[in-house]
Amino acid sequence: MTLIDGKALSATIKEEIAAEVEKIKAAGKKVPHLAAVLVGDDPASAVYVRNKVRSCEKVGFKSTLLRRPADVSEDEVLELVQQLNEDDDIDGFIVQLPLPKHINEEKITLAIDPRKDVDGFHPVNVGRMALGLPCYLPATPYGILTMLERYGIETSGKHAVVIGRSNIVGTPMSILLSRKSKTGNCTVTLTHSRTKDLPAFARSADIIIAAIGIPEFVKGDMVKEGAVVIDVGINRVEAPDRPKGYKLVGDVAFDEVAPKCSFITPVPGGVGPMTVTSLLLNTLKANRKEVYR
Ligand code: NAD
Repeated sequence: MTLIDGKALSATIKEEIAAEVEKIKAAGKKVPHLAAVLVGDDPASAVYVRNKVRSCEKVGFKSTLLRRPADVSEDEVLELVQQLNEDDDIDGFIVQLPLPKHINEEKITLAIDPRKDVDGFHPVNVGRMALGLPCYLPATPYGILTMLERYGIETSGKHAVVIGRSNIVGTPMSILLSRKSKTGNCTVTLTHSRTKDLPAFARSADIIIAAIGIPEFVKGDMVKEGAVVIDVGINRVEAPDRPKGYKLVGDVAFDEVAPKCSFITPVPGGVGPMTVTSLLLNTLKANRKEVYR
């Protein structure tokens, strides 16, 4: 069994990005600049955004954090998005989700200029992804594809079972794995809460992508020998013996599943760090105008 070390891979890719930034600087060109909008004071969102800003600093990007209180109006957020769309110094930006209930997330996502949508959530980027056209891939699926590629995991002709059909993980993952591409060419089954006998599908999988949000949902008897298991879940469970009183676990019962796998990602230290790194890669692409000219 090989543990896919997302933390180490992400550090390697960040070094590669930092080297690119040095080249950009040496050529006297504009340094990549990512902006992040954080509305309200949800602690998990604050941690995610802080990680993104810190990662930007680490690779030499410019970053701007724009915080707004939880009671900011939808119009004010739309206005901010417009300003960011028009700011030539900003290559890409994200609006951290979830937003407070009185703000329509769909409206905000649609207002973002697809050329600056480094989260890859705008329908233009999602549509381009589905058609195999140049686009910003959503960060988590992009990170997973990078892990598969860098660990030399064969996907062609394999049966991939994706568990969970969210717009940010499961659905794009199912499209990307089925595409005619280096980390695609899988036969994909997309399973979800209404799937009958999900364990039977999981047992027939060469590759499992678990993105459900239920702690340790994938058990040992749901995985065949030699499978590749990618655990996207990040779930807090009580752990009175830990200093914080909780610990993070994935959607996979790691101790049961790992011995059967050829490759598996841990939680934490698997998909999570790769997600942030993918956002940096998208920002670099935006800076170089690789996706949109
Ligand atoms: P979501 O809540 O939007 O979607 C969950 C999906 O799981 C749904 O499509 C639902 O149909 C499916 N589901 C729910 N119960 C099920 C069941 N009993 N059987 C089968 N399918 C079921 O979740 P999401 O945003 O895709 O996130 C999933 C998990 O991944 C969460 O733990 C989240 O925190 C984590 N996550 C991690 C990263 C990362 O960077 N590592 C990024 C995004 C999400």
